[in-house]
Amino acid sequence: MMKILTGEKDPILHRKAEKIKDPSAAELRKLISEMIETMHAAEGVGLAAPQIGRSIRLFVIEVGGKVSVFLNPIIVEMSDETILYEEGCLSLPGEFFHIQRSERITLDFQDLHGDKKTVTAEGFLAIVLQHEMDHLEGTLIIDRFRNQSVKKAYAL
Ligand code: ZN
Repeated sequence: MMKILTGEKDPILHRKAEKIKDPSAAELRKLISEMIETMHAAEGVGLAAPQIGRSIRLFVIEVGGKVSVFLNPIIVEMSDETILYEEGCLSLPGEFFHIQRSERITLDFQDLHGDKKTVTAEGFLAIVLQHEMDHLEGTLIIDRFRNQSVKKAYAL
């Protein structure tokens, strides 16, 4: 199992991750299988590369018993309708925050062969994908929660 970075102070967790140039690189396959193992061992539903110290645009998720791998994902559409859910994060053990997110999103990404794929998700899957996308932008749920609170405070 890989070591998962924790704590809101870690600089890697706040860095914008870099695009992967060669999605089919052998080195990535090993990394991805280790990330999936680590996600299982930690009983998480998602793990982004920055969380194990690699600042690259890659995450793995397991929702409804299905493991999926996303390389170079980009959000191409998000609904105005939102959904509120209490989220946790493997990098912030024991902390939970109510986060408001789009109820439905569409994501473009690459698979392990470098082929382009698109997924449209709603509900819990949409939440998980947005949470992992945040990790690639260097945003943790605690940051998002603070932002939400500030916005609320100014909404007169
Ligand atoms: Zn997380």
